[in-house]
Amino acid sequence: MTMHISGTTKVVGLFGYPVSHSLSPAMHNAAFEAMGIDYCYVTFPVNPKLVEQAVRAIPSLGLAGVNVTVPHKESVMRYLDRVDKEAAFIGAVNTIAINEKGQLVGYNTDGKGFMQSLEEEGIDVEGKRIFVIGAGGAARAICFQLCQHASEVIIYNRTLRRLQLLVADLAINYPNVVGVEDFERIAEADIVINATPMGLKSDDPLPCEAGLLKGSQIVGDLIYKETAFLKEAGRKGCRTFHGLGMLLWQGVLASELWTGQSPPHEIMRKALVRAMSEAE
Ligand code: NAP
Repeated sequence: MTMHISGTTKVVGLFGYPVSHSLSPAMHNAAFEAMGIDYCYVTFPVNPKLVEQAVRAIPSLGLAGVNVTVPHKESVMRYLDRVDKEAAFIGAVNTIAINEKGQLVGYNTDGKGFMQSLEEEGIDVEGKRIFVIGAGGAARAICFQLCQHASEVIIYNRTLRRLQLLVADLAINYPNVVGVEDFERIAEADIVINATPMGLKSDDPLPCEAGLLKGSQIVGDLIYKETAFLKEAGRKGCRTFHGLGMLLWQGVLASELWTGQSPPHEIMRKALVRAMSEAE
């Protein structure tokens, strides 16, 4: 792909450290090209010591917005003019956009992106019982959304303190959330979701024993590929899904915040899949 960069090109990008592995440039640039709009997406490896300078540079350099990834999702928040309600709850920002007053506003599109991915898979969470493994940033983002629709959200986490904090935060608005210290109740769930990084590496242990799953359950993993956990679940007859859809839809929502237009999501998905296969 050859992009035409001119004096009027609007620049968006990704703040992270490291960022060279990111699939987002491929996904967003494919969309901008297909939309015929004068934007380009680049990565910015922002040293953790320079986060404040990087955020302050967004208006100085005339950037149209940025995505934010590890390790800056929390630290950028204090330098923004405003943080929306969902990002404030999650305690992390993955997208910064500029509003009509020129203010820097922080959003988190992960939870809504996850819900969009379920919707396109035809997975309805309304009135369902959902078991989530993990209580980190991604679990926070999806549980904030799931609690608004599920009959019950049961959360397990290795570290009890982090579990208790998440459950207490959610319980303020959602009485249908419960934290558990073991996997006993997993059998009651309609949907089981791994929101930990266990499965990123081929020799990782499974997030829970596959023997605990039932073939009638839907099993998801936020990792962007068919993990060993999903393969085991599939062998038991479970319907499975992985995190590529969430990655895609959080990007679609970010792009809308920057450009005010709906990007072509099928083109973005193809670009993501191609970038993933090239990276392997
Ligand atoms: P995070 O904030 O660092 O949280 C990690 C969570 O995993 C914590 O609950 C942690 O438990 C648990 N965990 C980590 N290693 C573990 C282990 N060996 N055994 C048991 N539990 C373990 O990370 P995150 O941002 O939530 O990301 C979690 C996963 O979601 C990652 O794989 C990431 O790639 C994926 N993700 C996907 C998308 C997408 O768009 N598809 C978006 C965001 C994240 P403790 O509290 O006990 O440490």
